[in-house]
Amino acid sequence: MEKKVVVAVVCVAAVAGAVATAAVVKRKMKMDRRWAKAMEIVKEMQEKCGTPIGKLKQVADAMVVEMHAGLASEGGSKLKMLISYVDNLPTGYIFFDFSFRHMRSNWTRIVFAYAYVMKLICSLIDEKGLFYALDLGGTNFRVLRVQLGGKDGGLVNQEFTEVSIPPNLMIGTSDALFDYIAAELAKFISQEGQEFELPPGKQRELGFTFSFPVMQTSIASGTLVRWTKGFSIDDAVGLDVVAELTKAMKRQGLDMRVSALVNDTVGTLAGGKYSYKDVAVAVILGTGSNAAYVESAQAIPKWHGDLPKSGEMVINMEWGNFRSSHLPLTEYDHAMDNESLNPGEQIFEKLISGMYLGEIVRRVLLKMAEEAAFFGDIVPPKLKTPFILRTPDMSAMHHDTSSDLILVEKKMKDILEETYFVLYIEKGPRYPICNTSLQTRKVVVELCNIVATRGSRLAAAGILGILKKIGRDTVKDGDEQKTVIAMDGGLFEHYGEYSKCLENTVTELLGEEVSKTISIEHASDGSGLGAALLAASHSPYLEAENC
Ligand code: ADP
Ligand code: MG
Repeated sequence: MEKKVVVAVVCVAAVAGAVATAAVVKRKMKMDRRWAKAMEIVKEMQEKCGTPIGKLKQVADAMVVEMHAGLASEGGSKLKMLISYVDNLPTGYIFFDFSFRHMRSNWTRIVFAYAYVMKLICSLIDEKGLFYALDLGGTNFRVLRVQLGGKDGGLVNQEFTEVSIPPNLMIGTSDALFDYIAAELAKFISQEGQEFELPPGKQRELGFTFSFPVMQTSIASGTLVRWTKGFSIDDAVGLDVVAELTKAMKRQGLDMRVSALVNDTVGTLAGGKYSYKDVAVAVILGTGSNAAYVESAQAIPKWHGDLPKSGEMVINMEWGNFRSSHLPLTEYDHAMDNESLNPGEQIFEKLISGMYLGEIVRRVLLKMAEEAAFFGDIVPPKLKTPFILRTPDMSAMHHDTSSDLILVEKKMKDILEETYFVLYIEKGPRYPICNTSLQTRKVVVELCNIVATRGSRLAAAGILGILKKIGRDTVKDGDEQKTVIAMDGGLFEHYGEYSKCLENTVTELLGEEVSKTISIEHASDGSGLGAALLAASHSPYLEAENC
């Protein structure tokens, strides 16, 4: 009897064991299938994002073709190649423009001619005095006060404040945006000391860095072509942004004039020149991306004005809108573009700039969560929220050097966990995914790497395109010419893996010998300083104190 019971128990245990083993095996197979699917998605992404040197050279050549087309006629290319009206970069010494073509009446011309002659008599006059700059870029805007000490004094003092732009104003009305900016400017000025008070009758002067596509009509006027970087304020398109800012400043009771309207790339070029005399190109990699460079005036068929004395003109490329069949676009890029505020536009920018890199990673992770249960059986609901994974989070994960990728775990938790509140009392995470495996975290880092590498290598290809266009991609015998590329923007500044890859790729594309003639320099906050310098060099005032 006892024997029978033992046999039965053994049988039951064996069956249970077999069932459990089968369940474990089944679960393991399921996990393996899911993992294989996830790896398939990553591998496909890696292949589609490939940027071999041959492809990058094709991208650079396509950029050159578009640059020519954009310079030939208005609307000739996706690249606007905007004329900046900056035909000489301030070097600490003011330049004299005797054409006076921007002045309408003869009387004005006579007065200004007198002023210029007086300045000449005062020998080498340079940028001197107190100037302001307003830098409206993307997520934030900055107000700067710059004190220039003249020929020997250089930059005496620079102070700034940075304010973020409330998201509702980015899609509101023109008046609301400019009123907000002017109010912040007024606040900045109201807090300054007495030493900055100007003599009666003299207006404060401002360089306005406005980093959106603007068709300039002079150094201090220009109409908005379109918004980018998540801004969409319909009633501002087609308006003169300087006139709008001036009206808003009046409404705030601010006595201030805009002496120069510059794109941030143009400002960076001007600011960069202050430190590096061989600056010829400026590239911004921040929320968006753009480039400017010094072009020979004769190479601009669409320019019908007098040839500038310098023979040169700074061109704001608006390269963010570049597109080419050679660009490695994936299904995620197409979907992101379709759902964006500006579908079909700014395709290059959407591949390389800070606003979009994290979002691309999010889209791939979402597909992996949906099709390969990458984060477990439930798709984290927050992963469906566009732009929830920001590029700074992506770069923090990419830079995680800890052996167990602890920072990646923390970031994924921060981003994807949903804390649920009952009557404002935290009840704990509704979606706990804190237990991502090390293997999972490694894949997240790999994805960040794929997306950042593609972006930085494409940006390098764009730089090669510019260097080709201005003939700086080769070294002629005995040619000692150096070229400095002034770089700025939060992405370039803070995403080390991105900027390192960009610099390495530029070297790889140019080869050892040419690379020695090119240097990439971080022109930190150059755009604000550049705008102030351009305001100074375009100031109509006769600075008696200069004599
Ligand atoms: P803007 O382009 O808005 O004028 P910035 O040049 O300061 O301003 O760039 C801000 C952008 O830089 C952010 O939107 C973000 O995409 C990117 N960024 C900022 N910090 C980091 C970071 N730590 N890692 C990667 N990207 C960053
Ligand atoms: Mg900026």
